[in-house]
Amino acid sequence: MRRFDLKKLLEKNERALVIGVGAALLTAFLMNLEFNWVESSLYDFRMRLGSQPTPSNEIVLIAIDDTSLTKLDELSPLPLEHHVRLLELLEQMHPRSIGYLVDMNRVAQTYPDQVKGNWGARFVGVASRLEMQGIPFILGTPFDINGEVVPPFPLSAVPHAISVIHKDGNVFGEDKITRRALLSLYGKPTFHLELAHRLTGRELESPIRGQFADPAIEASYFFFRYHGTTGFGPRAENKPAYKVFSMIDILEGHIPRSRIEGKTVLIGSMSRTDSEDYTFTPYSKRAFANPKLIVHANILDAIMTNRGVVRSPDWLNWVTTFLVTAFVIWSVFTYTPLYGVFNTIVLALGFLLVGQILFSVRGLWIRESQPLVGIFLSYYLAVPYRLIQEYKRRWDYQQKNEILMQVEEMKTNFLRLVTHDLKTPVARIQGLAEMVLRRSSARLEEHEQENLRHIMNSTEELNHFITSVLELTKVESNRVSLTLESKDVNQVLEKIVERFDAQSKTMEIAIKTELEPLFPIRMDVSLITKVLTNIIDNAMKYSTRGSEVLIRTRDLGATIEISVIDQGIGLSTEELGSLFTRFYRAKNDQTTKNAGTGLGLYLTKFFVEAHRGRVEVSSVHGKGSEFRIILPTDLKSEDVVQPGLRVDANVNLSNQGANDVSSTRS
Ligand code: ADP
Repeated sequence: MRRFDLKKLLEKNERALVIGVGAALLTAFLMNLEFNWVESSLYDFRMRLGSQPTPSNEIVLIAIDDTSLTKLDELSPLPLEHHVRLLELLEQMHPRSIGYLVDMNRVAQTYPDQVKGNWGARFVGVASRLEMQGIPFILGTPFDINGEVVPPFPLSAVPHAISVIHKDGNVFGEDKITRRALLSLYGKPTFHLELAHRLTGRELESPIRGQFADPAIEASYFFFRYHGTTGFGPRAENKPAYKVFSMIDILEGHIPRSRIEGKTVLIGSMSRTDSEDYTFTPYSKRAFANPKLIVHANILDAIMTNRGVVRSPDWLNWVTTFLVTAFVIWSVFTYTPLYGVFNTIVLALGFLLVGQILFSVRGLWIRESQPLVGIFLSYYLAVPYRLIQEYKRRWDYQQKNEILMQVEEMKTNFLRLVTHDLKTPVARIQGLAEMVLRRSSARLEEHEQENLRHIMNSTEELNHFITSVLELTKVESNRVSLTLESKDVNQVLEKIVERFDAQSKTMEIAIKTELEPLFPIRMDVSLITKVLTNIIDNAMKYSTRGSEVLIRTRDLGATIEISVIDQGIGLSTEELGSLFTRFYRAKNDQTTKNAGTGLGLYLTKFFVEAHRGRVEVSSVHGKGSEFRIILPTDLKSEDVVQPGLRVDANVNLSNQGANDVSSTRS
C-alpha cells in the first residue's frame, strides 16, 4: 500500500524530480571538474571591463628608462654611482618612503668594485640616514629555490625583502598573467607588505582582504586589485595610473621637490630593451605588456588600502551552479523552444552582469566557469529529453486518434445499417395505413380515421429522420457525388413553394416570392432541392402564425443569391455559432415543439459548399432570420469539390446589431 503511494507521488511530481535530480547530478559532475582556463579568462574580462578603484596619488614612480640610460651613456644594469646620486638627491626632497626595486646582485656582477668600494658605502649611508629621518627604505630582492637572494655585501645591511611579481604559471590560468601577489614566504613578509607595514603601521599579522595561504610552500597570497581604468593596457605608457618620472629628470633637477615630498617613491627599471621589466596583466592584451614597476605600485596600493579580491566560498559556487542548471532545465521543459533559447541566453548574460557588478563594486569574485558551463550543458541535455517526451506524447496521441477514427467509422456503418433496414418496414407501415384509410374510410369511425392519420404523420417524421441520417452517413463516408445539369433555380424554387402550399395554409404563414429572372446554372438538382426545401421548411417551422416568409433570388454576376427571410423567432449569437454543427438544435420552445434532427443545416452547408458556394445567416433574436445561399454561375465538373471534407462555420457579427454568420470551407 505504501509503495503504491510512493509510485503515485513520483509520477505526479515527475517533472520536478527530473529537474531537481538532473540539476543536482550536473552540479556534482561540474564541481569535480576545473575550468581554470575559462575561469581565468572570465576573471580578466571582469578586470578589464569594469571600473576599478582609483589609484592613490601618494605613490610616485621613478623609472630607470631608456632616456635615462641613453643620456647617462650607460647600459642596463646601471652602475651603482648613479643609484647613489639619485638617492642622495631624493634624500633632500623628503619623500614619505622609498622602495628600491633594482636587483643589486646584477649591479654587483657588472660593477663589483663600485659595490665593494666607496659607492657601496655611500649607498648604505644614504639608506641609514633616511631610516634615521623616519623615511622607510626597503630594497626589493629576487628569490630563487633557496629563498631570498640577499643583496651583496655591504648592501645587505640595508633593509630588504622579496619583491617578485607572481605569474600564474600553474593550475589557475597557466598563462603567465599577473593576478595575485605574494604577501609572505616562509613566514617572512614580502617587500610590499613590509613597506605598507612600515608606512601605515598596519599589523603584519592582520590578514589582507582576500588573503589565502598555500601551505605547501608556507606562502600566503592575495588577488590584488588593479587601480584606475584608463591607465592601463596599450596606452599604459602614455597615461599610467601612477605618476612616473624619468630618472634622468630627477638627476638633472627638472622635477621640483614638491612632486616628491611626502610621497612614497618606487624606483625601478623600465627599459624597453629589457623584457624582464615587463609582465602581462589582466589589462594587457598579450601584445602589450605592462611595466613591472607599475604592477608593484598596484600591489602596494592594494595592500595599503586593503583592497583584495575576495573569492566566493565553495558552497556558493555549488548553489549557483545548481540553481542556474535547474532554471535552464525548467525553462526548456516549460516554454517553447524559442523562449527556451532566449531564457538560456538571458540567464547567462544576467549572470555575467551580476558577476561583473559584484566584482567592480565589492571586489567579490564569484566563480563563473562552472555555472556558465552548467547553463549550456544543461540546455543541451534538456532539449533532447524534452524532444523524446514530446515524441512519446505525439505517438500516444496518434494511437488514440486512430482508435477514435475506427470508432467513428464503426458508428457510421452501424447507423447506416440500422437506418437502411428501418426504411422498408416504415414504408410498409405508411403504405398500409394509407391503403386502409383510402379503402375502408367509410367503415371506420372518425377517431379511428384520426388515429390512422397520426400513424401516417409519425411514419412521415420517422422517414424524414431516416433519410437525414442516411444522408449524413453518406457524407461522412465520402459517398456523395454531384450529378450536374443546367437548371433555372427559379423553376426549382417554384416547384418547392408549390409543395409548401398546404403547410402554408394550415400554419397561416404566407410565402411570398421575389424572383429575378436568372440564367440556368449548373447544379445537382436533387441536392439543391433538398437544401432549399430544408431552409424554407425551417423558416416556416421557426415562425409564428400570421407571419410571412419571403423568398428572393438575385443575379450577382458571378454568383446568384437565394435568400429566405422569415419573421420568426430568430437566433442568438451563441446559437449562430453552433448552427451548422451536427445534431445541433437551439434550446427554445419553438424548436422543442417541432420535430427535427439537427442535421438539416449541417447537410445544407455541406451540399452548398460541394457546389463551391456558401451559406450566410443574419438574424435578430426574436425578430427573424435571413438565410442566403450563394451559388456560382459557372460551375464546371472539374471544379466540384470532392465532398467528404469536414466544413465548419465562421462566425462574424455585423449588420447593425444583427447576428451574421457565413460558412466557409476550412
Ligand atoms: P432541425 O430543423 O431539424 O432541428 P436544422 O439543422 O435544420 O435542424 O436546424 C438546426 C437548428 O437551427 C434548429 O433546431 C433551430 O433551432 C435553428 N433554426 C434553423 N433555422 C431557423 C430559423 N429560420 N429561425 C430560427 N431558428 C432556426
